Amino acid sequence: MNTARIAPVSPVSVTTGAVEHSVDFIRPRLLASGHDRVSLYAGVQINGAPHLGTSVMQTSAFLLARTARDKFGVDVTLRFGALDNAGCETRRCPRTGTRYERSFRHALGGERIQELIRTYYGGFFDALSAITGVPHEIETYTQQQSRPDFRQEFLESLTRMDALRWVLAPSHGKVPMSPPCPRCGWAQKQGEHTEVLAAGPGHAELAAVCLDHGGYVARVRADGTDGADEAYIGSGTLHRNLLKERVAAREDALAVVVKGADWAAGCRLLDEAFLCYPQAVLPARLFTPVVLSASGAKLSKSLIRAGRTEATAGSEPWMLDAGAWPGTVEEYARLLLGLVTLMLSEPRHFERGYTTLEVARLIDAAGLRIGAPA
Ligand SMILES: [Zn+2]
Repeated sequence: MNTARIAPVSPVSVTTGAVEHSVDFIRPRLLASGHDRVSLYAGVQINGAPHLGTSVMQTSAFLLARTARDKFGVDVTLRFGALDNAGCETRRCPRTGTRYERSFRHALGGERIQELIRTYYGGFFDALSAITGVPHEIETYTQQQSRPDFRQEFLESLTRMDALRWVLAPSHGKVPMSPPCPRCGWAQKQGEHTEVLAAGPGHAELAAVCLDHGGYVARVRADGTDGADEAYIGSGTLHRNLLKERVAAREDALAVVVKGADWAAGCRLLDEAFLCYPQAVLPARLFTPVVLSASGAKLSKSLIRAGRTEATAGSEPWMLDAGAWPGTVEEYARLLLGLVTLMLSEPRHFERGYTTLEVARLIDAAGLRIGAPA
């Protein structure tokens, strides 16, 4: 393929001359840590079929992992975290207006969650692994939060909350903590009435309120014992991501966090949160291109579901819902690999966003459409 003719046209980026391939961003951390293994961490949304932006981020993770392996001679693993803690249903207290939410895990149960993961990502990830030779694993948030390392980080974050609260919630200092009701699984979205009764390195107790069952006490122990009264850890996005990244940093490998570039502002806060810990080493990060609608807003599942046409204008149906892809899942994987390979051909093409119209143009120019001659 003649990439000179079909490559995106991108302005010079601030890293031009310093970075030849976007994976080089992790080289300084690899040299400093001396690790011979790299674990890349990326997210998997199960609150609906993935849209093109999600697929671009995930395909980027596979290609960046393969390049890291080939360029730096390290072993690579791709670890996906499935967000089964995402809100599935919401209610409001008719008296106070307090918003309650029940997660996919609590509303649907573990078996149905595994089914959703298989439906949305199974074939796609298997195809990407087969083509790139990069192994991958998928762990749900529910599995992760039950492990002792996650519980220990949660407990430690409580002991540092005086400093963390203003980093994780700079406007008001309120970090939402909402352990779901042990009887029904509903939790206050913002944890307005959650109160930390006790917090130490070994265990913590949080008082919270359920709309139907009144007050309850959630107990978290550092050893993550499977006792019936062991709480499910529920917390806000930034706090939860801090805990995940702190757990990832414990691994005997360089942990690399892969996220869409729309996360850059939030990751600045996460980096500042890391600095609240002694001997802090910030996580290595790779940001991937965001896919935008014609309006410049990124594709978003909630806006797609809400039928906000200004946020989806100019998009083809399969770009908003991978389930509408007209070909096989292998063909979808090959299309994504071809597209993201173009984006990765120069850092300036990777450090920018793409409208769905421009994605369609690139796909046609590169002959990536199914049925197009190779
Ligand atoms: Zn309840």
